[in-house]
Amino acid sequence: MDCPICREQGENLVEIGCQAKHAFHIACIEAWMKNSSTCPMCHETLKSFNFDSDNDEESGNSLKHFLPWQITPEICRMFVENNGSELEFVPERLKTHQLCRLAIIKDGMALRFVPQNLMTEELCIDAVSGNGSAIQFVPTWLKSFEICRVAIESDTSSIRFMSEYDKTHSLYRIIV
Ligand SMILES: [Zn+2]
Ligand SMILES: [Zn+2]
Repeated sequence: MDCPICREQGENLVEIGCQAKHAFHIACIEAWMKNSSTCPMCHETLKSFNFDSDNDEESGNSLKHFLPWQITPEICRMFVENNGSELEFVPERLKTHQLCRLAIIKDGMALRFVPQNLMTEELCIDAVSGNGSAIQFVPTWLKSFEICRVAIESDTSSIRFMSEYDKTHSLYRIIV
């Protein structure tokens, strides 16, 4: 696919959020956006970038206020380090194992935003040791005795997210 601005081939073109899903090099679209707030191709007005939005009740800023092409790995890291659940707003192309781990250490429940291809037992254990209830987001194919054990040790009520099969792995003996 070519970048419509420079007409050169691009592997890392990013969509800017217009309905037609037009995509450009980050550098090209950044230069364009200095003078315009519409998509260069379809002229759709793009939602403006409001970093300091007051209507965000969580008082802090969130990645969700960024346009897709404005999100860099550094920005993701910054937000996720501060609040694990920001992983929800990280574009799939920027989700790495390392970033997911950062998010999970901050907030075990961020496990629900980890893509299947990045799920590892290690990540799941980190998640459930921080918050036992994160066990509900562990995929069945990864749910091991070890993960269940760590989850229960962290929060006994997490047993409600386990199947009969999980429980029969002598888990009851740990909590009784
Ligand atoms: Zn370009
Ligand atoms: Zn467009």
